[in-house]
Amino acid sequence: MTVDAAVSGAHSAFLAAREASPATRRAWLDAVADAIEAHAEDLIALAHDESHLPVGRLTGELTRTAFQLRLLGADAASGDPFAATIDHADPDWGMGPRPDIRRVGQPLGVVGVFGASNFPFAFSVLGGDTASALAAGCAVVHKAHPAHQRLARETARITVEALAAAGAPDGLFSLVEGYEDGPALVQHPLVTAIGFTGSTRGGKALAALAADRPEPIPFYGELGSTNPVFVTPGAWAARRDAILSGFVGSFTLGMGQFCTKPGYLVVPATSRDELIKGLTDASPVPPHEMLSPSLRESFEKSRDEFASVDGVEHLVTLPGTDSAPEATVFRASAARIIASPELLEHEMFGPASVIVEYASQAELEAVAAGIGGQLTAGIHAEDGDDTAALVSTLAAHAGRVLWNGWPTGVTVSYAQQHGGPFPATTAPSTTSVGTAAIGRFLRPVAYQDVPDAALPPALQESNPWNIARRVDGVHQPATV
Ligand code: NAP
Repeated sequence: MTVDAAVSGAHSAFLAAREASPATRRAWLDAVADAIEAHAEDLIALAHDESHLPVGRLTGELTRTAFQLRLLGADAASGDPFAATIDHADPDWGMGPRPDIRRVGQPLGVVGVFGASNFPFAFSVLGGDTASALAAGCAVVHKAHPAHQRLARETARITVEALAAAGAPDGLFSLVEGYEDGPALVQHPLVTAIGFTGSTRGGKALAALAADRPEPIPFYGELGSTNPVFVTPGAWAARRDAILSGFVGSFTLGMGQFCTKPGYLVVPATSRDELIKGLTDASPVPPHEMLSPSLRESFEKSRDEFASVDGVEHLVTLPGTDSAPEATVFRASAARIIASPELLEHEMFGPASVIVEYASQAELEAVAAGIGGQLTAGIHAEDGDDTAALVSTLAAHAGRVLWNGWPTGVTVSYAQQHGGPFPATTAPSTTSVGTAAIGRFLRPVAYQDVPDAALPPALQESNPWNIARRVDGVHQPATV
């Protein structure tokens, strides 16, 4: 299908579907979730063949994907994402009489979605961007990732079939593929927003195209991150080996091909031998082939570039296999990193990470102040450690601050935040994971003194969609 045919079809479907109630949209998302679960075995086999990711991991990812579709559908049905707000006319309003004014989020239209290679289900054809755009009431055209093209086609086929069986308009979801289709999708005049998960380079190139259109559109790009984790002296003294073991497990998970891989572990100065012992005693996740030869090549290039930086020491190599590169841990002093804070943004998308050693609290704070925009930042600390300043510094740079945990693993929930300042994303005020992701694809419209019959159902006095609303400043739940 050409981009023009897909987008035109999606636009017609959007016009037909935008009046559908959130409960109807929820039923469509549930139907898609049921369908991928019904085809799970075939889809997982295809994903394993194309991505080399272990079947256990892919099984969990498919479960997450189906859960995400259902959760976002249910949230849309509750009405929360639309933030329907009614201010009745009030002659006694403090600043002078107020008219009747009502506001609600309305779907943007056709959303173009680009998925990443490292999550063939959860950040791909039916990933968070597609789920949140459909939950908002938009139509989706997805650009298939070439690293899992057969899986993308099969997932799209199942999705189209399930939507049709559930009564959704033809064209509500479709797939395009091929390198040229990416820019064409971003530039199509009927596309109203883009959801992107992938590399910083790709995201920046496509974001520039979105901004250069005659009518610029929002570009929600989730890019890369190095996810530094800071260890206090108290935590290091109390459980150094457990921390090193958790670190190795987290940065080798999925061959380090996670946007949330801990790329830096910042610890008190330690003897080289103790570090080596702690790292080699830990159990890395068993290595497997990387997602694609080109990703392996770019990983090895960025790892070797980092190895050649003055003041960086190659500390430990953990064994690979014939088809999988070995895992590598580098070591650098905090003083070296403070002198070149841009090193903290050097993403090695694969099994490599860096231990940074600080000699004082001032050095710890200086490293934290230089971390740039991050999806996550972590702290390992003991009860009683004074970490208030560190928490505050990390919150200023990262979308999610973790305590005594590891950043790989991003639950899908109401409070989740998967985003952060650039270069982690191109849109720091939003998230691509969790129910709050739906809001990216809505545009608020206010109606002033519009008669009830002409209002959208979400704002009519009788609340025909039975959704949660805020009326005259008071939050009112839907009736059960
Ligand atoms: P990618 O190479 O950027 O690909 C993503 C999609 O964008 C593909 O469909 C690709 O199509 C397209 N694309 C990229 N550059 C383009 C350009 N200049 N013009 C047109 N289309 C373009 O990313 P990836 O290899 O899948 O993922 C690896 C990166 O994603 C890592 O850096 C990782 O940190 C990041 N990631 C981020 C998150 C997150 O949530 N923040 C999650 C997972 C991964 P073509 O290949 O056909 O060009």
